[in-house]
Amino acid sequence: MEIIVIGGGISGLATGLTLVRAGQRVRLWARELSPHTTSDVAAALWYPYLVQPEAKVKAWGRVAYDQFQADLADPARGVIWQPGFLEAVPHRLADDELPAWRTEVTNFRRADPAELPAGFADGYCFDAPVIDMSIYLPYLLATFQAEGGVIEGERTIRDFAEAFAVAPVVVNCAGLGARELAQDAAVYAVRGQVVRIRPTGFRRALSADNGSLGLVYVIPRIHDIVLGGISTERDEHRAIVPEQTTSILARCQQFAPALGPISSQDILNVACGLRPARTGGVRVAYERVAPDRHLLHNYGHGGAGVTLSWGCAAEIARMVQQIAA
Ligand SMILES: Cc1cc2nc3c(=O)[nH]c(=O)nc-3n(C[C@H](O)[C@H](O)[C@H](O)COP(=O)(O)OP(=O)(O)OC[C@H]3O[C@@H](n4cnc5c(N)ncnc54)[C@H](O)[C@@H]3O)c2cc1C
Repeated sequence: MEIIVIGGGISGLATGLTLVRAGQRVRLWARELSPHTTSDVAAALWYPYLVQPEAKVKAWGRVAYDQFQADLADPARGVIWQPGFLEAVPHRLADDELPAWRTEVTNFRRADPAELPAGFADGYCFDAPVIDMSIYLPYLLATFQAEGGVIEGERTIRDFAEAFAVAPVVVNCAGLGARELAQDAAVYAVRGQVVRIRPTGFRRALSADNGSLGLVYVIPRIHDIVLGGISTERDEHRAIVPEQTTSILARCQQFAPALGPISSQDILNVACGLRPARTGGVRVAYERVAPDRHLLHNYGHGGAGVTLSWGCAAEIARMVQQIAA
């Protein structure tokens, strides 16, 4: 079947590649490609942050967790394993506050009090994949094309009819762009900013939210360490805010003193991105807009688009299979 996938971030690429591997003829149309998408800004840790619905997140997240574990076999994909990633929490966690997805990851455990940063009362640890998107997205683009997919970049769609003019199946993976394209007022931006620094020898990934430091995370990767974070709802300011860079550095050093001193020479770059959040959660859905026009949606992943990518893609592929049947 001829399929147009709209969007060249992690959702579009994972979906496009999954469909190609299912034997479909796929063309991917995108206004921007890597390194210019929100997906390029992601830290990117496997972690279901700022995303719903819980039961689906658990199932989708598991598929992606397994895929990233398989990706480890090929170092050229940019995936590494963080044994014992730590999420610190300011208060004592009740058992029913532990995440539902804990059954899907390896070595989930409560944090030992001795490993908690100052000011935190509790936390949990698990083995987490970390994906360097500056390596992973180019790998996906190349693999998609090598396996028969066609990329048509720098192409802005204003109406799905443009895509239906050339294919009977269209998959909307437009991230924040889905707000206009699908006329979905539930979609909104959650702005983030990150600072990439040179490796300092600090190796443990850790994060926290809701404590006195706000959202704060330190994610060591292959060639850098990503420091965050910022999370401001309905803020679409696309320029770097220098005060936020200063705040990120100060909060990360307080959170993880073993990072050591960070000078301006250690900073590789600063980036900001708009997380494509959605009231009501991720939308993976099918619409039959005409007898011969099938529209599928895969957007609204908030702060977890990488974490859910392969799971959502697999669900889209199952829906396409049903259309074909
Ligand atoms: C600072 C920050 C840190 C993050 N950290 C993590 C993390 O650690 N783990 C994690 O899982 N997630 C993380 N995220 C969230 C993650 O980046 C997003 O959920 C994910 O990138 C969404 O991917 P997407 O492909 O749906 O959207 P995008 O990456 O935004 O891609 C959308 C695509 O659609 C195209 N498009 C839009 N409108 C149109 C149109 N009209 N016509 C044609 N093309 C169009 C765009 O050009 C682009 O190609 C983070 C995000 C930020 C900002």
